[in-house]
Amino acid sequence: MTEERRRPAETVDRVMFRDTCRRFAEREIAPIWEEADRESQFSRAFFVAAANAGLIGIAAPAEVGGAGLGVHEEAICIEECARINPGLPNALIIQGVAGGILHDFGTAEQKELARASIEGDKILAIAVTEPDAGNDVQNVKTAARRDGDDWKLDGIKSFITLAGEADVLVLLAQTDPARGRDGMSFFAVDRRSPGVEVSRIPTYANRPAPTYRVHLNNVRVPEARRVPAGFRQIMMGFNRERILVSARWSGHMQHAQDWALDYARTRHQFGRPIGANQSIAFKLAQNQTDIEAARLLTYQAADRWDSGCPIADLIQQVSCAKLFVTQAVVRVTQSALHIGGGWGLTEELPVMRMALDALVAPVTVGSFEIQLRAIAKQLGLPCD
Ligand SMILES: Cc1cc2nc3c(=O)[nH]c(=O)nc-3n(C[C@H](O)[C@H](O)[C@H](O)COP(=O)(O)OP(=O)(O)OC[C@H]3O[C@@H](n4cnc5c(N)ncnc54)[C@H](O)[C@@H]3O)c2cc1C
Repeated sequence: MTEERRRPAETVDRVMFRDTCRRFAEREIAPIWEEADRESQFSRAFFVAAANAGLIGIAAPAEVGGAGLGVHEEAICIEECARINPGLPNALIIQGVAGGILHDFGTAEQKELARASIEGDKILAIAVTEPDAGNDVQNVKTAARRDGDDWKLDGIKSFITLAGEADVLVLLAQTDPARGRDGMSFFAVDRRSPGVEVSRIPTYANRPAPTYRVHLNNVRVPEARRVPAGFRQIMMGFNRERILVSARWSGHMQHAQDWALDYARTRHQFGRPIGANQSIAFKLAQNQTDIEAARLLTYQAADRWDSGCPIADLIQQVSCAKLFVTQAVVRVTQSALHIGGGWGLTEELPVMRMALDALVAPVTVGSFEIQLRAIAKQLGLPCD
């Protein structure tokens, strides 16, 4: 049975859209991802191609140039791109999260920045994490102090994907420390502003979309760039991001599985394909089960988001999806790596790279433990 026939029923429009996204990924990602990964170098040409294909702002409103579709369609695009490589589509997820803060809550002028990203003219980065505020977002300490009509920003952000390539940092800062997490605001900061310094944080994974440390030293930002959104809005944004990263890692699982299946069929030992051994075949059967479950959970969460279901139900579905998929992608890639044997550990095969990329999944956008905590809380357990 073909993969498409096994999928949960998708409307004709969605099947066609999936096909469009798959062809885009084969045309724009397949030829460039290995070099982008080797050099840890983001491709602006990819970004522009995605914008030209209408794949940035899929779920953004038409008012800012978006397609006005749902998170379900966004997830389809991310899954299909990640079937080739999970690094580059991360750039698209980030445009959705940063752009969402701007077009959902921003002023007319700020919405235009979201439009510029959707049209491929400006790259956005989302800057929340700090050296001492990883999962604990309410501990963000970057200070924004009022200075006449402007604000002055001081602090350090860490792990900011594409900060070095971005034109605008959508950055969370503390404007009123006495109010704690309710005293935070986003600022749309021009990355080339005086006082903004970015430096690479080299990583073993996710290298086509590199991460940076951002130092802010007395950075002047006009009041017109303060976005009327803060901690609560980014927490909601993270729910959406968790659906999209679940799609991303579902696509990556399929990539690893396709590779492992092919290797198990073609690699011979003891006079027969290694896949003829039940122990290898069962690994691939287990992987397939993980992939099917990952997709179901991902698209169920996307549909909950698109239908505007009650927040408690949404959080539960999103966290279950994120928790399951990000554990499963590690299982599936480790299993593919094992099937690769000694050759799997070499640079001659791609499977070690897949396994390294997968390790990003359980620790970012709310770690494994943070998802368990969210699910336990929704079950009514006083878990903190
Ligand atoms: C490749 C990559 C890209 C990223 N891109 C961005 C980006 O674009 N923008 C951005 O703002 N951030 C980004 N991040 C940051 C990412 O979201 C953080 O790494 C993540 O929030 C984890 O933070 P931390 O490393 O400080 O871990 P910590 O929060 O220090 O956690 C360390 C460990 O302690 C555990 N832990 C923490 N609190 C609890 C608790 N209450 N209960 C149980 N266990 C707990 C965690 O689960 C984890 O295992 C990126 C990170 C990476 C690796």
